[in-house]
Amino acid sequence: MEVLQKARNNVYKFGNKTADGNSKMKNLLGGKGANLAEMSAIGIPVPPGFTITTEVCTDYNLLGKDKVVQMIKNEVEESIANIESLMNSKFGDKDNPLLVSVRSGARVSMPGMMDTVLNLGMNDEVVTGLAKKTNNERFAWDSYRRFIQMYGGVVLGMKPHAKEDIDPFEEIMENLKHKRSIILDTEFTIQDLKDLVYDFKEAVKKRTGHDFPLNPWDQLWGAVIAVFNSWNGNRAVYYRTMHGYPADWGTAVNVQAMVYGNMGDDSGTGVCFTRDAGTGEDVFNGEYLINAQGEDVVAGTRTPQQITKLGSLRWAELAKIEETDRAENYPSLEELMPTIFEELNTYQQKMEDHYRDMQDMEFTIQQGKLWILQTRNGKRTGAAMVKIAMDLLKQGTIDEKETLLRIEPNKLDELLHPVFDLKALKRANVIAQGLPASPGAATGKIVFFADEANKYKNSILVRIETSPEDLEGMNIAKGILTARGGMTSHAAVVARGMGKCCISGAGALKINYKTRTLTVGEHEYHEGDWISLNGSTGNIIEGKVATVEPELSGEFGEIMKLSDKYGVMKVRTNADTPKDAKIARNFGAQGIGLTRTEHMFFEGDRIKAMREMILADTVKGRKLALEELLPMQRSDFEGIFEAMEGLSVTIRLLDPPLHEFVPHQLATQKELAEDMHISLLAVKNKVAELEEFNPMLGHRGCRLGNTYPEITEMQTRAIIEAALNLKEKGVICKPEIMVPLVGTVNEFVSQEQVIRSAANKVFEERNDAIEYLVGTMIEIPRAVLMADKIAEHADFFSFGTNDLTQLTFGYSRDDAGKFLPIYISKGILKVDPFEVLDQEGVGQLIKMGTERGRSTKPDLKVGICGEHGGEPSSVEFCYNMGMDYVSCSPFRVPIARIVSAQAVIKKNLLDIQIK
Ligand code: PEP
Ligand code: MG
Repeated sequence: MEVLQKARNNVYKFGNKTADGNSKMKNLLGGKGANLAEMSAIGIPVPPGFTITTEVCTDYNLLGKDKVVQMIKNEVEESIANIESLMNSKFGDKDNPLLVSVRSGARVSMPGMMDTVLNLGMNDEVVTGLAKKTNNERFAWDSYRRFIQMYGGVVLGMKPHAKEDIDPFEEIMENLKHKRSIILDTEFTIQDLKDLVYDFKEAVKKRTGHDFPLNPWDQLWGAVIAVFNSWNGNRAVYYRTMHGYPADWGTAVNVQAMVYGNMGDDSGTGVCFTRDAGTGEDVFNGEYLINAQGEDVVAGTRTPQQITKLGSLRWAELAKIEETDRAENYPSLEELMPTIFEELNTYQQKMEDHYRDMQDMEFTIQQGKLWILQTRNGKRTGAAMVKIAMDLLKQGTIDEKETLLRIEPNKLDELLHPVFDLKALKRANVIAQGLPASPGAATGKIVFFADEANKYKNSILVRIETSPEDLEGMNIAKGILTARGGMTSHAAVVARGMGKCCISGAGALKINYKTRTLTVGEHEYHEGDWISLNGSTGNIIEGKVATVEPELSGEFGEIMKLSDKYGVMKVRTNADTPKDAKIARNFGAQGIGLTRTEHMFFEGDRIKAMREMILADTVKGRKLALEELLPMQRSDFEGIFEAMEGLSVTIRLLDPPLHEFVPHQLATQKELAEDMHISLLAVKNKVAELEEFNPMLGHRGCRLGNTYPEITEMQTRAIIEAALNLKEKGVICKPEIMVPLVGTVNEFVSQEQVIRSAANKVFEERNDAIEYLVGTMIEIPRAVLMADKIAEHADFFSFGTNDLTQLTFGYSRDDAGKFLPIYISKGILKVDPFEVLDQEGVGQLIKMGTERGRSTKPDLKVGICGEHGGEPSSVEFCYNMGMDYVSCSPFRVPIARIVSAQAVIKKNLLDIQIK
């Protein structure tokens, strides 16, 4: 007998405290759909609706419209009937119409990526029915004109393409306002709205060649398909690429009964957060507007009011609004609708408790009834992320491991960058104030258009308001300033997500895009003028303001301490100066994994001595020059050892090709010839002699030390003497001398001999000794293959994944910039392998090198010092490879520490699952 397989569900219903799906089904229902289902199931009043799954979107991309509509038609019709019965109304009915919204919803929230269509189901008959039903003709016609506008833009593709183009619907509205000498949308009469509907439909016909679709079912299918198409729109693709999300995830479609916040003074709409998304403070907060639809709150065309009284008082203080003015014109929801507020307050707590994280919710009040439209884990700044995680731990909601897993490592970056210098701030000329929408300090030159954000190295994007089209420019700019919009405006929400400093709603600013000017009172600022933003206070400051380094304090310090409790793999730093070493140690570095000694030769007088060394024709001449360099190197090493007292410090011998140090310009060549009392021709000849066709594969790394052993001798002497000098002062030093670019056993062995004999000589001279290690970089594929033999001699391995990536892919580090971006945009490579370790390919070499090395020496110390040592996914990989440490730049140290702890927790969770 044939076994009947249960057909796949394409559509999931929710509403009336029940749901087909739940919050665990994000991959199938998208974040929004899964949450709507979950909320409904736990008793939150969500307007009833249904979700078309992401699988259908993927099918659509393969099969096209007709087949997919056929496939889900019955399920969609049945689900609409379910909404009809719950809302006691009928889709397309002229007397008692049901209107719906259509929204996209991918598995992760993608702010502004997908467009929403509201009021769907409206037509010339329904509009009169709605007017009768609500006893509000104005509302009905306004809903109709909004619907055509949204549908025209989103579904029929009538949005302007170029920034100079005008939205055809906005143009019609502006013309009518001009004709009628009015300013605000609210000043339109009912007849005006009817005229607008007529003109909008005409505009649609003119642009698309077709009548505006009046059949609600045609409208619905058009909108569903538009959502699927938007998954492959420019904005979505850009966002996906930026975050590395794969294209085959697809988006779900959410269809839901419309509820209206614009049905009079007993209606309203708002956005709220269970905690402060900027600072993490545990206060319920948000904004609302009476008699408005959702987009009015985010669009920033009206000044939103605060939900709680506390928030309202704080807002008024910032906006310099008198208490009487506030209480009368901008009361909080808590004051204006106390019962609704209480209900909302109960739900927000219920939802935070349920999801065990800060929630970002949207709600609507329709004629005195509260509906929750959506909830999701709120986007937050790095500071808020840390505080919320620690607070949830302290209140017992989550345990230590989950607290650590709540930290998005790269977001810590926001806390590790400079803040304004308090002294400089005191002198600052504050020209205006806006809302502190996203904290941080930003200084840059004014630009007015998002696509011009890269015009200057540091730019501040200044806009009346931002929209999803501005995303790319917002990402490039150092900070964002808007004249309109509240704490939940597009600019504010997106900036917080990006961890970018943002001030919104600075009403005193007059922005003129045509003249590219910003006017504040009497003062005019132009494109290219410097301004500074303090995203923590909302202060807009004239000119450039000095910044200072941040500190690991408060909750940030606590989370770091917690990470050390779980982390096993050590985190060292790459530092070439005592200053960097100190910064890294303050950030918790447990030693130095790489000091690039060549960087020390570029400063001041040293380059002269270095050049003399390179240009010397004899060993004697070279030694003389090296003697000059010795004291300089020694004092640098002393500084670094002192900063890292008691911890291991890996110092690498000279690595880069010598021609990097000689002058290539005529004027400097002449100067050098004079200084050295040799002819210009001699200098030129030497420069030419050092020129290489492929310096990355040329005379560099240990090939230098093996051809000029006196360089290795000098560097070893400097290291050992520095360590002995400090030993005399009672400072414990643990030097590890590292040989670069080793490919054969003999290359290492011969350098090791030079190092050991130079060190012994110093020990004899000083009649004293210290312990030190001699190890190697593993950065040439051949060294990986020979790792068991090399480990017979080397005390440690450090993977140089910059060169190892270069040599494994065969991509020149110096030239990859020409083709890698194209490879990434074409999808040939997912990410830049110089940034994110290629675990699949280069990772095999790391595994093999470690295993072979430890097959000879089981306790061989292994680490990594390539750029990947500070990149979260690569750090996790290193832990899973059994490395003893990763080494990264000072500002990445806290990030690597968190990942080191997370890697242990994740591995344990996985082990438990496997068992
Ligand atoms: C490496 O190659 O990974 C490395 C750390 O050395 P450098 O970048 O100096 O070549
Ligand atoms: Mg290297």
